[in-house]
Amino acid sequence: MTDTTPHPEQIPDTVRFDSFGLSPDILRALSDQGYVYPTPIQEQAIPVILQGRDVMGAAQTGTGKTAGFALPIIQLLMAHANTSASPARHPVRALILTPTRELADQVAENVKAYSRHTPLRATVVFGGIDMGPQKDALRSGIEIVIATPGRLLDHVQQKTINLSQTQILVMDEADRMLDMGFLPDLQRIINLLPKQRQNLMFSATFSQEIKKLAASFLTNPVTIEVARSNATAENVTQILYKVAEEEKRDAVSFIIRERGLKQVIVFSNTKIGASRLALHLVKQGVKASAIHGDKSQTERMGALEAFKRGEVEVLVATDVAARGLDISEMPCVINFDLPYNAEDYVHRIGRTGRAGAKGDAISLHTDKDERLLIDIEKLIKQKIVRLQLAGFVASSALHTERKPRRAETEKPADKAYERPARSYNPPKEKIDPWFSKPYQPSATANVASAVTVSNSSAAGKPQKRAALLGGIVK
Ligand code: AMP
Repeated sequence: MTDTTPHPEQIPDTVRFDSFGLSPDILRALSDQGYVYPTPIQEQAIPVILQGRDVMGAAQTGTGKTAGFALPIIQLLMAHANTSASPARHPVRALILTPTRELADQVAENVKAYSRHTPLRATVVFGGIDMGPQKDALRSGIEIVIATPGRLLDHVQQKTINLSQTQILVMDEADRMLDMGFLPDLQRIINLLPKQRQNLMFSATFSQEIKKLAASFLTNPVTIEVARSNATAENVTQILYKVAEEEKRDAVSFIIRERGLKQVIVFSNTKIGASRLALHLVKQGVKASAIHGDKSQTERMGALEAFKRGEVEVLVATDVAARGLDISEMPCVINFDLPYNAEDYVHRIGRTGRAGAKGDAISLHTDKDERLLIDIEKLIKQKIVRLQLAGFVASSALHTERKPRRAETEKPADKAYERPARSYNPPKEKIDPWFSKPYQPSATANVASAVTVSNSSAAGKPQKRAALLGGIVK
């Protein structure tokens, strides 16, 4: 087996994980993960949490915040690590609360990966699935529990979990928890915990409500901020394309094909919109899948895993489903709809341009989105570049420009955009008058020559389409 982790000697003089005094078992797990340098939030949070301080962290998913709190928690709990089979020797010592099942699952995966060489046990509990296996896991004794609030309270009620020895509480994505109405659940959970404990709160945004919540349960917290809240990464190129409402789906598939995108999240404001768009893309030969709240947990996990493996190239998601998804190195995100909530725009485009990489955030907008755009630009304090979607012609427009032959209308829609991936051909100046002519039988010279182009080779049809696509000024 080859070890791809750089040797310490090869690493420039910068903070490394081994400078935090973490246990060799944790360092080994980090090396398994291929992590070399801590991210800025990790660099700041790890030493502070190791000192036992409360933390208020302003960080979004994608900054490495999970390891930022998970690593010091594992380190602090190492003092209690034991291999006893007795459940009593493995009480819940750390509780990590997250707003969504997906985030809970991802945090749990990370915690398990980082603690895999230690005897500490971690498990995840969230709703929507059978409680049985969760009960079994909890009864066997678990030091680190990652949970969504509702299901955790179900377990409390059924007495399958005892939180009286919890030393550390983490509230991940606290803003989203408040948005989702979890405040009463959070208060109930906090009342079940020992008064003396360490509290860590992470939030992407800091509203008055969040500050109030922080003031009510954090003690003298250290505030850690890795990026100004509501700031968008400078390395993300933001682009706006104006399209007609009914052309949006075609525009998305056009962008995906034109750019040869192989890993992209497309955001839809509605579940139905996400499903329809995914279906549309699949029909056009794009490997797409939808992920939203109406999908079963198994379907959501399946889609996410397939996306991570590259079997699904386009994940169409709603905000709630996408929040907290651990998907790194996204070269591009597309807003099929502009979000109703301007802050969601910041979260969405934060999916790309991580860790200094370059990324594109492409948004479609229509006439009726003007208000939303103003809100977004006010929040991010910048104007987004408005560009023309060069070469794009919606299939509906194709049909109105020229009455197609019957055979053409029956062709799969995807063929309409079959062009080489890199072809960013600007539109030609004028529309070829041929296209506006009424349909004539192929005997006429004009049509005959056009058809010759389209049928002159095996790849003839795409060529004709290229002429079509390039010939119309949007
Ligand atoms: P998070 O913000 O915690 O969701 O992390 C985002 C992604 O960064 C996850 O895929 C992590 O596995 C990865 N990650 C976290 N810390 C590091 C690190 N120090 N080096 C490289 N990747 C990391």
